[in-house]
Amino acid sequence: AAFLEIENLVKTFGTNTVVKGASFGFDKGEFISLLGPSGCGKTTILRMIAGFERPTSGAIRVDGKDITSLKPNQRQLGMVFQAYALFPNLTVGDNIGFGLKIAGMPADQRRARVEEMLKLIGLPGFEKRFPYEMSGGQQQRVALARAIAPKPRLLLLDEPLSALDAKIRVSLRQEIRAIQQDLGITTVFVTHDQEEALSISDRIVVMNAGNIEQLGTPHEIYNKPTSRFAATFVGQLNLLPAGIFPQGTVANASSVLALRPEMLSLAPKNGTDIALPATITDVNFLGAVVRLNVDLAGTPVHIDTFNDQSTPPSRGDQVTVHITSRDLLVLPN
Ligand code: ADP
Ligand code: MG
Repeated sequence: AAFLEIENLVKTFGTNTVVKGASFGFDKGEFISLLGPSGCGKTTILRMIAGFERPTSGAIRVDGKDITSLKPNQRQLGMVFQAYALFPNLTVGDNIGFGLKIAGMPADQRRARVEEMLKLIGLPGFEKRFPYEMSGGQQQRVALARAIAPKPRLLLLDEPLSALDAKIRVSLRQEIRAIQQDLGITTVFVTHDQEEALSISDRIVVMNAGNIEQLGTPHEIYNKPTSRFAATFVGQLNLLPAGIFPQGTVANASSVLALRPEMLSLAPKNGTDIALPATITDVNFLGAVVRLNVDLAGTPVHIDTFNDQSTPPSRGDQVTVHITSRDLLVLPN
């Protein structure tokens, strides 16, 4: 059985049902992301797992035990929020040791554990500092240390990086992933950032308006999306009109054909079996990638090519676009 099991979870505020029957199960040690646009119900699910919200119906089990009606402090979990959740009047050491003190750990053991945590997050010697003396990224590392110090069974992270600068966000997410793998702690990470979810998750739950659209590994979500929403929310997507393809390519009228921008090319490659005339409408040089906008029988399409230092085509050029038919994504319309 799964270590963390969510069964048909529903949450209604007044007349507004914001989580509409979510079910999933995860193994011990997995890093799980809840990914979806703002307002889709991610935080509400996390708060139900944490015990801050009571589900309208459904069940939550950890390690086979139903925890749905336990109080938050009976659930043995650690939480990190978006930002500024440290106790401002407590030192870093007292912040990290807070849960340990409540649990009744003696002072000398507590000090040792705080020291160990500060090493783990790369801030040794910071115990006497106050939160206001630290950068946002450092504060979030302290918040992480505070959450994991009592050795929780589950770590819940609600957009912990979204208030930070882009560079720090990227380095800190790798750090969180490394610490999580080191400790083997089962983690649920909420984000609206698809790149973040793809880069650090074992599996991703893609959510839309209170529903689960897809659950899978980053690889599966990106390469084998099962819904139009999942396909367009994660990564770039070209929807291609069925009419441009040779007879027999198209599945049926209730589906659409789509292709990621990097799956089209201007030169034939091993396996390409469809060649279509197109016109370059725009060229965006992005550094590693050159993004071409083309007109493919009246449909605007993106093509991403690696910068191979050859001269890119120019606007107005007539080109041939090569596609491998088995790369086509067939999505419900
Ligand atoms: P997300 O974290 O994906 O941005 P939330 O779970 O915070 O979304 O919110 C989902 C929906 O539930 C939103 O429409 C939000 O306004 C609503 N909501 C969240 N908490 C409450 C509450 N305590 N009372 C009423 N509505 C709420
Ligand atoms: Mg939220």
